[in-house]
Amino acid sequence: MNTFNKKLGKSGAVTLPAALRRDLGLQEGERFSISVNGDGTIHLKRVQGECIFCKADSNLIVHAGRYVCTDCTQAMSAKARAN
Ligand SMILES: [Zn+2]
Repeated sequence: MNTFNKKLGKSGAVTLPAALRRDLGLQEGERFSISVNGDGTIHLKRVQGECIFCKADSNLIVHAGRYVCTDCTQAMSAKARAN
C-alpha cells in the first residue's frame, strides 16, 4: 500500500498525487464516496458514475467531466455519420 502525506487546502480540498492519478487512471470529473470509521479513519472510495443519457453504470468514459456510456457514444457517432 502506498501512503501519501497531503495537506488540507483552504477549501477543504486534498489533491491526489499525479502519480496516483496516473497509475489508477483517474480522470477529472470522477466521483468518490467518503466515509468515516469510528476510529476517525477516512476512506475515499472511487465511485463509478452513470451515463448522463441512459443512466447505465458500466462501460463509461468521462467526457467534459460527465459520464457517457460506450453504447450512447456509438449511437451518437452513428447519428453524426448519417447526417
Ligand atoms: Zn448511455
